[in-house]
Amino acid sequence: MPRLVMKFGGTSVADLDRIRNAALKVKREIDAGYDVAVVVSAMSGKTNELVGWVRDASTPDGSNEVGFHDAREYDSVVASGEQVTAGLMALTLQQMGIDARSWLGWQVPVNTSSSHGAARITGIDTENLDAKFAEGTHAVIAGFQGLSPEGRITTLGRGGSDTTAVAFAAALGAERCDIYTDVDGVYTTDPRITKKARKLDRIAYEEMLELASLGAKVLQVRSVELAMAQKVRLVVRSSFSDEPGTLVCDEEEIMEANVISGVAYSRDEAKITLLHLADNPGIAASVFGPLADAGVNVDMIIQNISEEGYTDITFSCPVDDVARATAAVDAAKDAGAIAYDDMVVDTECAKISIVGIGMRSHAGVAGKMFRALSEERVNIKVITTSEIKVSVLIDRKYMELAVQALHDAFELEKAS
Ligand code: ADP
Ligand code: ASP
Ligand code: MG
Repeated sequence: MPRLVMKFGGTSVADLDRIRNAALKVKREIDAGYDVAVVVSAMSGKTNELVGWVRDASTPDGSNEVGFHDAREYDSVVASGEQVTAGLMALTLQQMGIDARSWLGWQVPVNTSSSHGAARITGIDTENLDAKFAEGTHAVIAGFQGLSPEGRITTLGRGGSDTTAVAFAAALGAERCDIYTDVDGVYTTDPRITKKARKLDRIAYEEMLELASLGAKVLQVRSVELAMAQKVRLVVRSSFSDEPGTLVCDEEEIMEANVISGVAYSRDEAKITLLHLADNPGIAASVFGPLADAGVNVDMIIQNISEEGYTDITFSCPVDDVARATAAVDAAKDAGAIAYDDMVVDTECAKISIVGIGMRSHAGVAGKMFRALSEERVNIKVITTSEIKVSVLIDRKYMELAVQALHDAFELEKAS
């Protein structure tokens, strides 16, 4: 029997009615002759609630500061949301006359690394599932979770059920991996930001990978990486309609494409500048080494031209990493590894990016982007580019305006 993976996100399993609606879609595919592995997320809002409970439980009495928490217990708490929906989906399918059972990560097992909260799947043993498929039992799999080599429950990072789905599609040799969500596909930008956003019929893996990395949370980054590496046919589609959705595929399968495929944004970015930094060989390593050791996710970097032995270095990182970043830089200064006059922190930034494989063969894309932003009087603080993307850091208050201006400037509402 051909196999299919169908993943339902949080809004698609938000209550029993929605689970029933999703189950009907599963039934349709089973009736069409597929062995189906259903992957479910927790009900929408549930994972946030669980994370909140972990934070509260880790806050010392009478303190405003969240204390250190054991990441293994974090995982055991936050993985529970998916256990509930997996069981409910199996029950709903059974009630429709379908032979189905639920599987938790450890039961399959989905083997992962031990990086709790951000574990990577190292392998999926499909033997148990295969045996059940042979008996006519369809699988309902709790997304987002796995088993560490130490025998502990792990989770794959926020949005990780997408990655569970793609990993199962690869391991089971599924014909396709359908990601059912609350939008009917991948759009030229987040449809919540502009009504002019247009659904794409197809998007290349590479572009989807950039869009996801740059903030488009419609697919978790790792799921796209995995789909690209394992050549999984990935379709993003709506739980609430029968529209065909967006196929994420090889570049060669896309006949005509615009120069730019999409605009992505990342809201909570910060910029840190070290002013009048004593410059000598190895200075960048002395700044960024401690930042890396502190687990700071440094993104964009600029170093000014050195004058008379001094320079300025600016870098960006997520707002959540700012406290760790400033502590690491302060510590390097105190230890005498670096010397600077001042550290300026701006936590009110956002990053906007344009992405498109067409950029490889078209000149002037960055210039057009900068012009469109200047016409809206949006100041650019930092710029980075790669072969298929240009990103800028701007004031957060202009984020929506900038996304809309770029969407207009590149005429993304029109198909090529
Ligand atoms: P799920 O719970 O189903 O995993 P998510 O909330 O993780 O759903 O992802 C779907 C959301 O992604 C949409 O509601 C939309 O607001 C957002 N999104 C951001 N960028 C895009 C884009 N380019 N195309 C489609 N959706 C996007
Ligand atoms: N429930 C998890 C989250 O909210 C995983 C997922 O939905 O993909 O991040
Ligand atoms: Mg998601």
